[in-house]
Amino acid sequence: MVKKEVTKNMHRIEGKTGQWEVIVGLEVHAQIVSQSKLFSGASTRFSRNPNTQVALVDVAFPGMLPVLNEECIRQGVKTGLGLQGSIQKRSVFDRKNYFYPDLPQGYQISQFFFPLVLGGHLDVSVGKKEVYSRRVNLERIHLEQDAGKSVHDLFPHKSAVDLNRSGIALMEIVTKPDMRSAEEAMAFVRSLRILLRHLGTCDANMEEGSMRADVNVSVRKEGAPLGTRVELKNINSIKFIGQAIEAESQRQVEALEDGQNIAQNTCMFNPKTGDITVMRAKEDEVDYRYFPDPDIPPVEIDDSFINAVKEEMPELPNAMVARFCKDYALERYEAEILSEDKDVSRFFEQAILALKVQKEGAAREMALWIIGEVFARMSEGVSITGIALTPERLAQLVALVLNGIVSRAIGKSILDKIWQSNTNPEEIVKSEGLEQISDEETLRAWVKEIEQQHPKEVAAYRDGKVKLQGFFVGQMMKKSGGKANPQVVNAIIKEVIG
Ligand code: MN
Repeated sequence: MVKKEVTKNMHRIEGKTGQWEVIVGLEVHAQIVSQSKLFSGASTRFSRNPNTQVALVDVAFPGMLPVLNEECIRQGVKTGLGLQGSIQKRSVFDRKNYFYPDLPQGYQISQFFFPLVLGGHLDVSVGKKEVYSRRVNLERIHLEQDAGKSVHDLFPHKSAVDLNRSGIALMEIVTKPDMRSAEEAMAFVRSLRILLRHLGTCDANMEEGSMRADVNVSVRKEGAPLGTRVELKNINSIKFIGQAIEAESQRQVEALEDGQNIAQNTCMFNPKTGDITVMRAKEDEVDYRYFPDPDIPPVEIDDSFINAVKEEMPELPNAMVARFCKDYALERYEAEILSEDKDVSRFFEQAILALKVQKEGAAREMALWIIGEVFARMSEGVSITGIALTPERLAQLVALVLNGIVSRAIGKSILDKIWQSNTNPEEIVKSEGLEQISDEETLRAWVKEIEQQHPKEVAAYRDGKVKLQGFFVGQMMKKSGGKANPQVVNAIIKEVIG
């Protein structure tokens, strides 16, 4: 990763009074992968039937006591390690008091004064053509309960409450105000999502709400102190995060240049209309009257607990990208695509292992087959573990191409044939006689025939119309049923006709 500070990719808003810098900080709520909730044994599975996955403690039945789920602490520690944070051996759950119909306790159990993880960072690569690295530092990661859900569109004049989500464990990942554009914030959330999926600590399905972000936006003139920030609550898609930042920063610049002040508000972004509406004036900590939850003793963890989690740590995505580039000579974006999903990276590496061809560029050829051909044949919503084709079969096929037995074009048509059945590609080559024809004598004889059949094109070609090379190659492919070795054919055309 490039560690140098970004200079040429600085994003600025052009205002009437000059350029403005956009400052973004995020609070990402990520639902922890665990069988049961943070303080109860109720299931965390996604269910469409409301109020079916609720324990008495989740509905704040009087006298019920919360019991901490150790697995959630383990997942929080794992996430903290993956983000290079400092794991706190003593953390404390506090009550954050507020009223809301979907919060039956009248408070949320969260960690305010002593969170589980302090600090940490994530290096994010930003941009498509000109890629640069942005380090986003973290303030903290704390654990807390999720609230239930108010449903307003079920009945005409009534609202309903679904408490299935009530009490599910969340990690709140709080960044420093280190992002400088919508693009950087989107890249951060994308990278964070990939990391959490590799760690297996959050499934990060934003459409289902298992990851969502509060976005803090302010603007300032270069070098000026931080401006007043506005918080945009609960945005559940990367695209909307980008749109919200664009809209809010633009609005702030216009307001400031108009001589208005920015009020520290909590707002809602409506992705359908692009409108930003004020929900409430930002509360201060004091409004929540945080205090340690008397029902839950402080969480004490020791080195052996942390070390046990370290043992289970998978390779992190940034390290995997670097290794793929180095070991397999991939372009960075190819390595990123293949390491985005751990099932894909496993498929790729199994295929490499099965590919017994010692040729320069062999691994990259495999990478391109997966990115280009396999992905193109996968239907929407199907994971690579759900397809019939195995990494070993793909390796056999790619070996046929690398060894010059079939052309790439024939290779692709074989892939179509084995896609559903996972049959041995070598058998198809044999039974259908698909071997590539590289024999120069045969090919030369065909080129001579073509020379006879197309005198006009031959004359033009000799006159300097070299584009006709493609026409002759096409004729050869027709003659050979696509089996002529294109490299050899090109050379012979030049030799015979040129
Ligand atoms: Mn929170």
